Amino acid sequence: MADKRDIKGLYRDELAKLCEPAYRADQILQWVYEKQADSFAAMTNLPAPVREKLSADFELNAVQSVHTRHATDTTEKFLFELRDHALIETVLIPATPGLTSQSDRHTVCVSTQVGCAYGCRFCASGLDGVRRNLTAAEIVDQVLQVQKITGERVSNLVFMGMGEPLANYENVLRSLRILNAPWALGIGARKITVSTVGLAPRIRQLADEPMQIRLAISLHGATDAVRSQIMPVSKKHPLTELLEACDYYVNTRHRMLTFEYILIENVNDMLDQAYKLASLARQLHAKVNLIPYNPVEGLPWKRPDRERCKMFQHTLKTAGVTATLRTEKGTDIAAACGQLRLQREKSPASKLPITGSDLAGDGDF
Ligand code: SF4
Repeated sequence: MADKRDIKGLYRDELAKLCEPAYRADQILQWVYEKQADSFAAMTNLPAPVREKLSADFELNAVQSVHTRHATDTTEKFLFELRDHALIETVLIPATPGLTSQSDRHTVCVSTQVGCAYGCRFCASGLDGVRRNLTAAEIVDQVLQVQKITGERVSNLVFMGMGEPLANYENVLRSLRILNAPWALGIGARKITVSTVGLAPRIRQLADEPMQIRLAISLHGATDAVRSQIMPVSKKHPLTELLEACDYYVNTRHRMLTFEYILIENVNDMLDQAYKLASLARQLHAKVNLIPYNPVEGLPWKRPDRERCKMFQHTLKTAGVTATLRTEKGTDIAAACGQLRLQREKSPASKLPITGSDLAGDGDF
């Protein structure tokens, strides 16, 4: 028997082609995205034979919550299991200075791959390499499940979780179009940020797409010498190539860029890096988002003290660059990318059937 298709990975016109009469597609989409039905059987205004056919042909849920953790600052972190039992992480972040100032905003940070091939030295997600790309449905469903579990309407999205989004280009683009579509979640393109470690050719490709999404570059170093210490990708796509692609993006899309810059003690937090970063940011009219490093167990990197972070920010501001210093969110729930999954996979408790309703405050697992 052929594999069932994931309904959350389909565009409206693709579903309409499979439905008879075609208006059924809108009824189904309303159940999936607006009413967030648990099963096809729950779609009660559809005739029973249609519901049975849907159950036979399609999967409704692509991810399943296996654990949720609250941080004291109200960040919530979700561990989702995929149908092949792989684990991914998703984070719900309340209003965050550095991303936006609106207080009623709920931002979801989604994963795009199981693991990551790019092996940034400071990151837990890249420690075991990449296992596979997520499907569009697995990306879309992370957002839907977070809405369902928390009862909060997601207003903003950041593609900054596990994996390199632009290395899974086609599925990420499909998920973006679905998440943005009025018949699905209708999240405005300007409220969606895609982050990349610097895949220059893909940045150019994204620039040629019609969507007005925001682009964030994980820079983390203002020179190739510093970047290459912590980001192996910089050997393949050195700064010159990356910055040319950024320039193309800015000039094609007329959108402002963000440079993400994780501050790591004695690696990239020196003032000469701040001066060089300021010059790059000015050149591209980019703003800078400074993020004090979240230590990862087993890795040697440290977070600079607050004064040093502020001095770095001050240097950028004095040079005329918009620079925010992120208040750390979720440190107490291992919010740095990939840490929760690693803890779970390495813990013997990972075999336990922990459910999404287990909203542990500070439980260990
Ligand atoms: S920081 Fe991002 S690109 Fe780098 S290893 Fe981690 S998930 Fe991959």
